[in-house]
Amino acid sequence: MSDGQAWRERNRRIWQEELEAFVPQCVLDVHVHVFNDATLPPGEAFPAGGPRLQSYDFARLQADLAEVFPGRQCGAVCFGLPFPQYDQRENNRYVAGGCDRRSRWALRLVDPAEDPGSVRADVIAGGFVGLKPYPNYVRKADLGQVEIREMLPEGIMAVADALGLIVMLHIPRRGRLEDPLNRRQIRELCSRWPGARVILAHVGRAYYLRGAVGHLEELRDLPNLYFDTAMVNHAEVLEHLFTTVPPDRVLFGSDIPIALAAGKSVEINHQYAYITPEPWELSICDSAGRVTYTSFLYEQLRAIRRAVERLNLPRGFVEDFFHGNAERFLGPAGG
Ligand SMILES: [Zn+2]
Repeated sequence: MSDGQAWRERNRRIWQEELEAFVPQCVLDVHVHVFNDATLPPGEAFPAGGPRLQSYDFARLQADLAEVFPGRQCGAVCFGLPFPQYDQRENNRYVAGGCDRRSRWALRLVDPAEDPGSVRADVIAGGFVGLKPYPNYVRKADLGQVEIREMLPEGIMAVADALGLIVMLHIPRRGRLEDPLNRRQIRELCSRWPGARVILAHVGRAYYLRGAVGHLEELRDLPNLYFDTAMVNHAEVLEHLFTTVPPDRVLFGSDIPIALAAGKSVEINHQYAYITPEPWELSICDSAGRVTYTSFLYEQLRAIRRAVERLNLPRGFVEDFFHGNAERFLGPAGG
């Protein structure tokens, strides 16, 4: 950002005025992307909400967490960039090397074409606590036609089930949770593999109300299904989540480094759009600078706070959401 210092000061003020009294002392972020410069082809950069990053390493993560959560003890579940054009093996190796299972936990990017035996051996050797599949790894000409079961074939799910792994699931298809095939396959996945812990990233990509209402209801009775709130800036979606699924199933996730970019996701006519001051392939760009922004992350925290206050949820809920629920399966965050 060109106005780096002004940006920092604005955010510091938002933290002090709106967030400091709300965010617990301990924050365990279950949705963080980390990648070294060997992950990307030479000369390429990843568009992270506007800023283009050639790498996002553990040192940078540490510094950013200290800046955006001042004085907090921060843990993170980390994984790479799940795109077939990047070096999956190198990214996995880097992520595993930076995770100690005390304050950093690693998920392994998984391609459905991989041999399940090799995935299993690699998970054990690398100390990974879970898997990160992604629709793009299915390599269909029409990405919109990818199915969950194609992202997570039987052999790989058998490994996740046997080792009790997390499966961080970014659901495919244009309809997201509105798509009945997705909901059916989520139910099948969780029921068939009760040893796996499935996390629906971004509340099933429900960045707008219709993406959640009427659909989360169908999924609330699955005991091994969790929901992370990464990039959800919408207080009503969060209210619906918090009132619909059991309170031990909701997890704070950010989507750092994308969440550190300036911008906001807004609902428009039963859809959503990212609005950013910098050009980004996925956003509507406010090139005229009509409004002043904070980060997607702070918009997430504001929306979480608003939902909690409107529902009058107890402090224990907030503590569990920000760290207690994840600690129950990762172990206490220390560091
Ligand atoms: Zn993500």
